[in-house]
Amino acid sequence: MTSVCGSDYFLTPKQNELIELAESLGPAFAERADRYDREASFPHENYADLKNAGLLGLCVPEKLGGRGADLKTYALVSATLGKYCGTTALTFNMHACSTLWPGVLADALDMTPEQRAEHERHRAAHFQRVVRDGAIYAQPFSEGSAAAAGMAPFGTTAARTEVGNSRGWRINGKKIFASLSGAAHYYGVLCTEEKPELSMRDTLYMAVPGDAPGLTITGDWDPLGMRGTVSRTLVFKDVFVPDEAQMMPRGIYHQAARRWPHMFTTLSPTYMGIAIAAYDFTVSYLRGEVPGTPPVKRRMYPTKQIAVAEMWVKLEQTRALFLRMLDDARIDPPKDSRLRAYAAQYTIMENANEIARLAIRTCGGQSMLKSLPLERLYRDSRCGSLMLPWTAELCLDRIGREALYEPGESD
Ligand SMILES: Cc1cc2nc3c(=O)[nH]c(=O)nc-3n(C[C@H](O)[C@H](O)[C@H](O)COP(=O)(O)OP(=O)(O)OC[C@H]3O[C@@H](n4cnc5c(N)ncnc54)[C@H](O)[C@@H]3O)c2cc1C
Repeated sequence: MTSVCGSDYFLTPKQNELIELAESLGPAFAERADRYDREASFPHENYADLKNAGLLGLCVPEKLGGRGADLKTYALVSATLGKYCGTTALTFNMHACSTLWPGVLADALDMTPEQRAEHERHRAAHFQRVVRDGAIYAQPFSEGSAAAAGMAPFGTTAARTEVGNSRGWRINGKKIFASLSGAAHYYGVLCTEEKPELSMRDTLYMAVPGDAPGLTITGDWDPLGMRGTVSRTLVFKDVFVPDEAQMMPRGIYHQAARRWPHMFTTLSPTYMGIAIAAYDFTVSYLRGEVPGTPPVKRRMYPTKQIAVAEMWVKLEQTRALFLRMLDDARIDPPKDSRLRAYAAQYTIMENANEIARLAIRTCGGQSMLKSLPLERLYRDSRCGSLMLPWTAELCLDRIGREALYEPGESD
């Protein structure tokens, strides 16, 4: 399969090693993808493979037993997985970012010495669970309100409480679209500290164990695409978690969301991978080389050649922006890099679906049969631009506003 970065792109030895590891798992993931999609079931076997390969700790710092991947390295591995199974890459995003954000991203944030010490203690416990026990984390943020778009406080609340000798928090609320529901060992929930007036500054990021009393999973799951993510509804009714459940100290998530915009681009590598897969499929199909199909060549028609050329141009435009965005990623990026991050997210999400659409049109009717992966790539690719906080619409919204207004300006 086409590599995510293309040939002769500079990669560190660690990036090369991790990408190769992801590539080695890919063919088995591709083989299983159809079953998870048909059943809308979670890819448990793929997670067993990720665990055996030591990839659950991809973004856990090396000094805490992980692979120490930064945002760029994570994204390249994620896109590699996305070429083989969108569902696995997308759910792996929720898990890996549960270690990337409290890990290398949090290292760059301002904290008091007390907050830093608390964070070191708490994250060591979270990371140990991942590295030693193979724990899987989810990221249920969405509530069906303006909160997941970053425009309002989360309606799920956490109130200070004590149970026996344990000080902690009592969580109440509801999360929709919780990918990995039923499969995650911990749900990294964003909630708001209960005060007379809820404020986004008081956002808390808490790891709730999957078997916590008061936590229930409800609703069915029968969507268009990304069916193996099993993104059902979580209901929290007086769920107690101790202080150590905090994945970032109080107030720090709000700082991260303001100062580390690239943290919200981490869904896009999955879709970069899907775009590559749709392109690769088209080339194989037109060459008559897709396994299990008759060796009929269709590549000699000029219309097919033009269509493939259009797909390649779109793919290269998308990949160039993807790689540039990853090079830009840092705390407090300059304005043009922030705007480019929105543009990259928009481009990847929209172009993945456009490339999959062109693939079906170009290959023709037989290519969209369920016996082949293309129709799944098409359905999965449709989901990217709907994902908050940076949906395709909201990326345009932010670019337009931030291009025309400097901070503090209004009319
Ligand atoms: C396959 C899949 C997996 C998912 N997994 C997770 C997960 O693990 N965790 C998680 O937290 N969420 C997850 N989501 C949810 C996702 O991030 C969105 O929250 C969800 O799709 C929003 O659906 P909605 O209909 O409630 O959107 P709405 O909030 O109704 O928004 C609809 C559209 O309106 C626009 N919009 C929203 N708010 C504003 C605003 N304030 N101003 C202007 N425009 C706005 C956006 O473009 C948005 O797409 C997943 C979604 C999918 C499809």
